[in-house]
Amino acid sequence: MDDSAQATRLVDGCGRRIDYVRLSLTDRCNLRCHYCMAESMTFLPRRDLLTLEEIAELARHLVGRGVRTIRLTGGEPLVRRGFGNLIKALGALQSEGLEELTLTTNGTALPKFAAQLAEAGVRRVNVSLDTLDAERFCAITRGGKIAEVFAGIEAARDAGLAVKINMVALRGTNDGEFARMLAWCGERGLDLSLIETMPLGEIEGQREDSFLSLTEARAALERQFTLVPSLHRTAGPSRYCDVVETGTRVGFITPLSANFCSACNRIRIAATGTVYGCLGHDQHVELREIMRSGQDGALDAALDTLLAGKPARHDFDIARAEPAVARHMSVTGG
Ligand code: SAM
Ligand code: SF4
Repeated sequence: MDDSAQATRLVDGCGRRIDYVRLSLTDRCNLRCHYCMAESMTFLPRRDLLTLEEIAELARHLVGRGVRTIRLTGGEPLVRRGFGNLIKALGALQSEGLEELTLTTNGTALPKFAAQLAEAGVRRVNVSLDTLDAERFCAITRGGKIAEVFAGIEAARDAGLAVKINMVALRGTNDGEFARMLAWCGERGLDLSLIETMPLGEIEGQREDSFLSLTEARAALERQFTLVPSLHRTAGPSRYCDVVETGTRVGFITPLSANFCSACNRIRIAATGTVYGCLGHDQHVELREIMRSGQDGALDAALDTLLAGKPARHDFDIARAEPAVARHMSVTGG
């Protein structure tokens, strides 16, 4: 990178270099996981979303400012109409400095898209799967069919994509399943990340009741597996261990029990073009109208304003009655 490009890199007010963007393609989803969404969610009107062309243009701009990883998310990114064209356009950014294009998905539409993802240069995907039990899966997702996720994982692997499983730890729901899930992943050569549930958006019931610290989940795993802390890092906040018995890894994403904000390298873009400095705060800038105005320099100025005020850390407190922020994970782009 030459000197002028260095000068345009995204650096926040705490001196953290921002090179990772989580980009939500839609707040909609074909599932309704109870910790993520309320049963009767109101979704954004389609006219409020950035168009696919605007998403691609914004992504190119961000790569020009030093972004090296883009993770597509949502809602469910694969339900966004025109996804196939978009992934092709974003894949082309890998010749302009983008090092990793990836996505987090519930997996149900992977049979349709896995080959296109691989063709576009996607090398790995995260698939969310909180249980291996069909009935429990149906209950957690309010109606989802686990066979569709299994088929999605198979399709991704057949297309040559590495798959990592994301499992949110939920007391009273899947807290007896951590070792079984790790064994299942191990048999298939898949890494696993466990995630603590975060207080985002109103849901039915109290989050505190379902919160489970990963310290407890790890202890349960260590009764059956030998976990050795690993130096392996991705662009995300997972801290990994090698699992001696399976030869795979298990990661722990612990926003509540072990804060990782000092190493934050990311911003999050909602499908509307609202950019959030932090998952746990409302601080944001709106890019949609700025992009539509076509004003020279306005996009960079807005991004720089966001970064100057990017919060130093979230202040999640699972015991508080109200959520840390009103918007759901599916809106910000989880
Ligand atoms: N629909 C896709 C999926 O489920 O993978 C992508 C979006 S989803 C919001 C991204 C990830 O956030 C999933 O792994 C999901 O389990 C997780 N998630 C959603 N709400 C959460 C919450 N309140 N706390 C912790 N993780 C959450
Ligand atoms: Fe949909 Fe993902 Fe939220 Fe589940 S976690 S409701 S799959 S967006």
